[in-house]
Amino acid sequence: GGGRGCVTLRGAQIRDLLDSKHNVLFDCDGVIWNGEAAVTGAPEVVSLLKQRGKRVFFVTNNCTRPRENYVQKFSRLGFTDIAEEEIFSSAYCSAAYLRDVARLQGKVFVIGCSGVMKELQDAGVPVLEEDEAADREPGTSIYNCPLDPDVKAVLVGYDENFTFMKLAKASCYLMNSECLFLATDPDPWHPLRGGRITPGSGSLTAALETASSRKATVIGKPSRFMYECISSQFDLDPDRSLMVGDRLETDILFGSNCGLSTVLTLTGVSTLEEAHRYRDSDEPGQKDCVPDYVVESVADFLEALEE
Ligand code: PLP
Ligand code: CA
Repeated sequence: GGGRGCVTLRGAQIRDLLDSKHNVLFDCDGVIWNGEAAVTGAPEVVSLLKQRGKRVFFVTNNCTRPRENYVQKFSRLGFTDIAEEEIFSSAYCSAAYLRDVARLQGKVFVIGCSGVMKELQDAGVPVLEEDEAADREPGTSIYNCPLDPDVKAVLVGYDENFTFMKLAKASCYLMNSECLFLATDPDPWHPLRGGRITPGSGSLTAALETASSRKATVIGKPSRFMYECISSQFDLDPDRSLMVGDRLETDILFGSNCGLSTVLTLTGVSTLEEAHRYRDSDEPGQKDCVPDYVVESVADFLEALEE
């Protein structure tokens, strides 16, 4: 037990930390906003960081919107001058992976939403167009629904229209060991208003992993690929980069996997108690989920950034 990490930062320490970094990577939900409400002070923190010459990037596992929609959301929530190029979502990075890493020759079968579809389209990755109305016709079932031999990858993301039919088709495609199996992100669930939750991409991926006896390649946090996506476009020195997140198993592990300093904010999913549990655990690997630093909120950066 014991060990390092989870250092609660105050005033001058925040200033020193920010002074030592050139790049700040922010998770979105739970860090700079919660649903449709900006975290108090977050827009000011982002713009002050930029004014101080820092480069700011947004790294989100939320695959439901294309990049251009995020630009609108930022501006709606009071963040000024956020460019598409600064936003790295699991949908955008999944499309980049299929185009640049897998160099997919064939179509993708998508379990997902319009954000994923739009990013694949923008990247020029061919998507299997599904005729969902035909699938619902009497007589159509898992026994006779059409399967396209050109499908060479299955991509699973958050899908509020997830069905048994989609799961069945994806399982059949994955019988072919040459067919790639990708997941936008491993998130188990997300908080909604009123104490509710919604199942995340990870829960849909788990269903398909069981059905196919295969493991998906994860694109989003905590996989290093999102960092590689950023560093392929911007020259990033990990020693001079900071990852700020609210979920230990994705954001903080991502930071650890990429060799970044990590800050946990307590405005989202994970608690200080959970961070201490990882810190005090003797099990291997758990230490990678321990944040270097903890703040109540990104608003704690404000004081350090103001003159
Ligand atoms: N995926 C979905 C569908 C979500 O609704 C959310 C959060 O609202 C996320 C992922 C997590 O996003 P982030 O990585 O910005 O916390
Ligand atoms: Ca988050």
